[in-house]
Amino acid sequence: MALLTVQNLSKKYQNKTAVHNVSFSFPHGKCIALIGPNGAGKTTILRTLAGLLSPTSGTIQFENKKSNTDVRGMIGYLPQYPVFHGWMTGKEFLVYSGELALLPKSEAKHRADELLERIGISKEASKERISRYSGGMKQRLGIAQAIIHKPMLLILDEPVSSLDPIGRREVLTLMEELKQEMSILFSTHILSDADEISDELLLLRQGEIVEAGAMQELRQKYQTAKIEIGFE
Ligand code: ATP
Repeated sequence: MALLTVQNLSKKYQNKTAVHNVSFSFPHGKCIALIGPNGAGKTTILRTLAGLLSPTSGTIQFENKKSNTDVRGMIGYLPQYPVFHGWMTGKEFLVYSGELALLPKSEAKHRADELLERIGISKEASKERISRYSGGMKQRLGIAQAIIHKPMLLILDEPVSSLDPIGRREVLTLMEELKQEMSILFSTHILSDADEISDELLLLRQGEIVEAGAMQELRQKYQTAKIEIGFE
């Protein structure tokens, strides 16, 4: 059974249709890139899957779970513009995030230490305020926050778009490692990011999925995918 099955998902904001009849099935243990230009509807789809927006129509089915409450613990979500409390240290932020995820304090501390090591933030750096962190460090901390409760599916909205080359490399490496442990769905408008770490791509244009499949298949289909796809 697929981890996630989306059928005829549509989302309207007032009169504006942002997502139209999107259907796809997400197998267990894959990393899938949702790729499309600005305004294609990526954020809308990801926020809807994360339960932050209600679909106008269509269904989202996680394994055999029926209600949204059942699935909340299965998903980790990092928004496109995460908010960090810059006055907190990295460790404080993760302990606080763990407690928000209803972990007992001792477990939240343990999980914070485990994750700090996992994302490559040293003990010393974990005691510094987040406002002093680089973009890449902040983004890795955001990913740690998103997986504090050990979700099955990690959803990342444009996780590398705002980063410099070093930060981008750090985050892509972390994603590459995490995909051994959980399913990942991430959005991007940059084809090379999608190509680098995803198993499959969903190509989104004006709220509709226009192609789906592995990069190699799409390349063969289009030969010069970059031109045909119509963005970077
Ligand atoms: P970007 O890469 O720029 O973030 P995106 O692919 O994530 O784009 P969305 O943010 O999902 O796209 O937006 C899809 C469409 O819906 C766009 O035309 C956008 O202007 C519109 N839209 C998004 N949020 C709202 C809103 N709250 N109210 C009205 N229209 C919205």
